[in-house]
Amino acid sequence: MTKELTKNNNKYYICEECGFAYKDNQTAAKCENWCREKHSCNTEITKDAVKLD
Ligand SMILES: [Zn+2]
Repeated sequence: MTKELTKNNNKYYICEECGFAYKDNQTAAKCENWCREKHSCNTEITKDAVKLD
């Protein structure tokens, strides 16, 4: 399950495996499935990650 986070009135979805944030739940879920199976990050997915600080 991805984690939801609201910041500056924007909603983000966090991959619980690697902690990357995404603007859409679908990409976050894809990342999470990948991370869980492969124990590594897929740059095709993480390129869509949003940097939060
Ligand atoms: Zn991930």
